[in-house]
Amino acid sequence: MADAKTYDRGRDMIEADIGSGRTVAPGDLVQCVQQACERQPAWDIHTHLYPPCFGTPDLNFSANPDPQGLMLFGIDELVTYHYLIAELFRFIPQSKLTHEQFWKLSRREQADIIWKTLFVERTPLSEACRGVVTTLEKLGLDPNERSLGAYRNFFAEQDPDLYIDQVMRLANVSTITMTNAIFDPNENRRWLSGDVRPDSRFKSTLRIDPLVNDFTSAAEQMTLWGYRCSPLPDGRTLDEVKRFLNDWLDRTQSVYVALSLPPEFEFPAVNPSAEKAAGLQILEKVILPICLHRGLPLALMIGSRRRVVPSLRDAGDMLGRSHIEAVVNLCRLYPQNRFLVTMLSRENQHELCVAARKFHNLMPFGCWWFINIPSLIREITTMRLELLGTSFIPQHSDARILDQLIYKWDHSRRLIAESLTEMYGRLFPACRITRDQIENDVRALFSGNAERFIQQ
Ligand SMILES: [Zn+2]
Repeated sequence: MADAKTYDRGRDMIEADIGSGRTVAPGDLVQCVQQACERQPAWDIHTHLYPPCFGTPDLNFSANPDPQGLMLFGIDELVTYHYLIAELFRFIPQSKLTHEQFWKLSRREQADIIWKTLFVERTPLSEACRGVVTTLEKLGLDPNERSLGAYRNFFAEQDPDLYIDQVMRLANVSTITMTNAIFDPNENRRWLSGDVRPDSRFKSTLRIDPLVNDFTSAAEQMTLWGYRCSPLPDGRTLDEVKRFLNDWLDRTQSVYVALSLPPEFEFPAVNPSAEKAAGLQILEKVILPICLHRGLPLALMIGSRRRVVPSLRDAGDMLGRSHIEAVVNLCRLYPQNRFLVTMLSRENQHELCVAARKFHNLMPFGCWWFINIPSLIREITTMRLELLGTSFIPQHSDARILDQLIYKWDHSRRLIAESLTEMYGRLFPACRITRDQIENDVRALFSGNAERFIQQ
């Protein structure tokens, strides 16, 4: 390590020499990178969070309870998140509690069982469990309570609107990106009711999975909404889907269009079924041209296999290795379109990075769902830095419960800092690294790349 006094004496000379920022001594690197990552506000580009105008469910204290409300927060939501429901059934056999019996319990009863089983009777080691611990700790609560009463009291006292500010401050998130699933009747109704108000903390994105994955149902639904669509996309149907999409992009002011696709997704498809062919036709003839025309990226989240265990509902989803060729072909055949891509399987991560080296219009983003665990975030972030420099978006939260933002960003910031520190360390002693350089790199990763790619 460089001698600190010698280093200090030489600092003025070095600064004059390079003209920007202070050079970081090897011994200061860890702290400097950690601080830069902690201080840099993040644009969270994919969440399932909503502002209060989408409704807040009853915390038993609300004057206007809205059981279907979409803005979720609080201990009962945190503890009954589907990651934790899946983990509960690792420890409770079906002979003691069937999935069906579990769903018949109230949300509070479900939360009590999960807390007792995963947090009181066992050590909360898994990432989903530790996330709840970190969240409570950062909120100033003691995560070692044996029951949920004290937490319930704390959350019931929060004003939802002010609580969003508090959570964003603790997570250091500057902007939350919603996933506006307009084929979901609950969300659709709220947009059309006129209750949705612009909120500068949130950006919208249009989530339109059924248009590509299940066009028969989508066509039926759009027809009910006044867009005359047939299950086989003829000329009139294509025009009507365009009208539908443009109406919703106008209404939501979305910053990108998003699709979640199964591992089997192929582009182009070999011998597709009539329904698959219809979905791909909508993608090529409606979605991509509209994205291009409006200057919006298309986000592809590829690899989730829904309801492998249907009785577990959301907790029963699985993953599968996907076809990178589909991403490569889209980027190659539509060079003017921009694609934000995240893949669910660890096995797809390296080839996604290599594909991004070839295509300027491809932006890998985030460590999604089952790969959003420390060991894999470290591995994937380091690999991306090695293959792509800082030209990617390392993380998004995917938070569905507001409070989850706190732990997701706390854990990720530390891991991204560790990967970056390792990378800078490899450049020593050959290369001088300045604080400005580190801050620029961190800004690009946490917000600059998203701004450049999404808003260009
Ligand atoms: Zn998501």
